[in-house]
Amino acid sequence: MGHQIIIVGAGLAGLSAAYELVRAGLDVQVFEAQQRLGGRVYTVQLGAGQYGDLGAEFVDENHTAFKAYVAEFNLKLDPACQFPDDLYWFFDGRLYNRKSLNNEQGVALDNLYTDLQNLVDNQQDPLQTLDEWLDERAISAFGRRIAKLQAHSLFATDPELIGPGFFAYPGVQGSFNMRVRHGSSSLVNALAQRLGKRVHTNSPVRRIQQTDDTISVTVETENSAVEVMADIVLVTIPWSVLRHIPIEAPLVDAQREAISSLPYGGVVKTLLQYPYHFWSQPNFGIVLVEGNYHAIWEPTFAQIGTNKILSCFSGGTPSLDLTDQASDLAVATVRAIYPDAPETISSYSYNWSTDEWAQGAYCYFRPGDLHRFNPLLTMPAGRIFFAGEHTAPVEYRGYMEGAIRSSQRAVQQILNFLY
Ligand SMILES: Cc1cc2nc3c(=O)[nH]c(=O)nc-3n(C[C@H](O)[C@H](O)[C@H](O)COP(=O)(O)OP(=O)(O)OC[C@H]3O[C@@H](n4cnc5c(N)ncnc54)[C@H](O)[C@@H]3O)c2cc1C
Repeated sequence: MGHQIIIVGAGLAGLSAAYELVRAGLDVQVFEAQQRLGGRVYTVQLGAGQYGDLGAEFVDENHTAFKAYVAEFNLKLDPACQFPDDLYWFFDGRLYNRKSLNNEQGVALDNLYTDLQNLVDNQQDPLQTLDEWLDERAISAFGRRIAKLQAHSLFATDPELIGPGFFAYPGVQGSFNMRVRHGSSSLVNALAQRLGKRVHTNSPVRRIQQTDDTISVTVETENSAVEVMADIVLVTIPWSVLRHIPIEAPLVDAQREAISSLPYGGVVKTLLQYPYHFWSQPNFGIVLVEGNYHAIWEPTFAQIGTNKILSCFSGGTPSLDLTDQASDLAVATVRAIYPDAPETISSYSYNWSTDEWAQGAYCYFRPGDLHRFNPLLTMPAGRIFFAGEHTAPVEYRGYMEGAIRSSQRAVQQILNFLY
């Protein structure tokens, strides 16, 4: 009989690992807590044939592993934004982009990014928060506003929490980005279709237990709990969730500490559907804004129909306070930029911090933790292996590309262990 592999979680990491392990001839079972597959990839329909992503959406130029699956499964990528032209800041009642900054602002921005790039080039992970690091370098007020917005809108956290060593890794890579036609869940569906009955939904894993030469997981089913044995368990769930599951296995203390303390940022994403295009620029672009929400863009840029959706992203501590007013606050944020915005036709908000199976949006690193935790993230413990966005190469953490690359690495580790 072939080797039996259990995969915990059917997000992109779990599904892509399962797909590759099946291709390698192994017997795979995937246990997913929810009825829905995809985890932090979550496309919803908003009416009139239009859709939006409540989780992952943008695909960057260098997301080659993701693009390889897009090609393999015959999916299509649509254009989203061009950089730097489609990136705007809404400051003090005015929209700016790179070309409309004055000389002083342009220099402040260049200095900030040069200093950050130096951190990456010299592999530094200072023991200061981003806020303290900006203070020490006497970064101008304008540079600080940009950095704060970037912390909220890209890293889903606050400058007072994130370490500059992690913040320095550029999020937007390349001169343009794209979206998957029909939404990011199309890739989830393509993988799931090929895995068929190997994927078990409504099956949360509640415990992982290893003895000398076996490993098992306890899976909760509708009426009972079942213990399932295997040769290997690949855990792909966020550590914000994993830290609540008992793991009886030879994890080293530092690994347990990383599992219990790796922080996750908060995000509320609100999709607002409008009857028509009411902004001045042809492509809404990505507008960074201060306040309750931090970034707004248009997922319908390449979709058919005269209705338009704006996606409003709130990140970090401000996202935790939005609660029931999320849609109203998003509407008000859009009106602050475009006072003539019409009434919305429909809206949809999702809070990733209160999602039981995510407990946050994606991981970030506190000062010094990037270097401290890095070797622990990908380290197997006996017959347990780890994948998922948080275990990806650092520049891909927080991306679908990271989830896929992490699974490719874990699959290789498993094959090396078995053969
Ligand atoms: C708001 C938001 C915006 C984003 N934007 C982008 C973007 O534009 N571009 C991009 O590339 N990436 C983006 N990302 C990041 C991207 O979504 C993630 O990096 C990626 O989807 C993570 O995949 P994963 O498989 O590692 O984890 P997940 O998708 O979290 O998958 C884990 C799965 O495990 C399941 N699970 C949890 N606990 C258990 C359990 N005990 N038993 C069984 N199953 C369990 C969960 O239900 C989930 O299905 C965004 C994320 C968020 C939240």
